[in-house]
Amino acid sequence: MDLLARLAEAHGPSGREEAVAAIVRPELEAVCDRVETDPLGSLLGTREATGAVGTPVRLMIAAHMDEIGLMVTAVDDSSGFVRVIPLGGWDARTLVSQLVLIHGREPVDGVVGTPPVHVLDQEARNRAPKLEDLVIDTGLPADRVKELVRPGDVVTRVRTLRTLGELITCKAIDDRVGVFVMLEAMRAAGPSPAEIVAAATVQEEVGLRGARAATGRVLPDVGLAIDTCPSGDGPGQKGGGTKLGKGAAIRIMDASAIGSRILVDFLESLAVERDIPHQFHVSDKGGTDTASLQLAGEGSIAGCVSIPQRYGHSSVEACHPDDVRACIDLVAALIERVHEVGRPG
Ligand SMILES: [Zn+2]
Repeated sequence: MDLLARLAEAHGPSGREEAVAAIVRPELEAVCDRVETDPLGSLLGTREATGAVGTPVRLMIAAHMDEIGLMVTAVDDSSGFVRVIPLGGWDARTLVSQLVLIHGREPVDGVVGTPPVHVLDQEARNRAPKLEDLVIDTGLPADRVKELVRPGDVVTRVRTLRTLGELITCKAIDDRVGVFVMLEAMRAAGPSPAEIVAAATVQEEVGLRGARAATGRVLPDVGLAIDTCPSGDGPGQKGGGTKLGKGAAIRIMDASAIGSRILVDFLESLAVERDIPHQFHVSDKGGTDTASLQLAGEGSIAGCVSIPQRYGHSSVEACHPDDVRACIDLVAALIERVHEVGRPG
């Protein structure tokens, strides 16, 4: 829990993942034979194969370190309000009234301000806010803001991890919980005749970019992304889909990738054999590093294990610890047995 809290509370929007990498690197070093940083900033930890016959199968696991954030475009001359553009897929409604941190010359607190209901006419009350209409108020005079904040500075959500009944909630559960699952699965797994590369990737939220470069370097036979998936059991949802607390979600399809049939079936058989609670995620929306794992280089047999999540891309992302445990068990099982999947062709 302590490691997950440190990961989720750390600030690392797309392209500025250094603070998260500083937490992840020593954890990877503890479970890998070597760790390198690639030119984009992804961390690649390699664990050599044990007792392989011939060239070992290479499994690359990817979980992204970046979180959705904002980037400063301008500071208003008179008000000092800070204008921003999105880094990743925001729903502007969830940003209103949130505490944020501007990573300027020094860290600057801010709130995403909006006119109070008292002054809104009916039409304004009914309209959903747009991100381009929102500004960040630092409470500082304009001159001081201009000293501290410049265009290109990044902005992140502010939350501490806490329990919510049976659930865990924080900002950036997507995908620090996936990074956590990857690290804990590497710790839990026994020896494997496959070579394992655990990649903590960058810039997923802006288009699966870090994983593409990392996969080009690693050239895996088998690829596994670990990421959150939207559960179907939150308020206002029609049901169907995954449920919190019902186990690891084996992702069959989303808008970015169709999971390899071979790997989907193998993950299911491992879950059945080891009595790991599991469910399936099937959607025509969203995407994960799976797409980059599958398509980079000459392609790999790729799939995704997902942690079901409510309130994705908001400040109160929530998941269930039982699902986290199930994902760790399933990924550890794959590490030990992935040589049975073999190589493409
Ligand atoms: Zn994600």
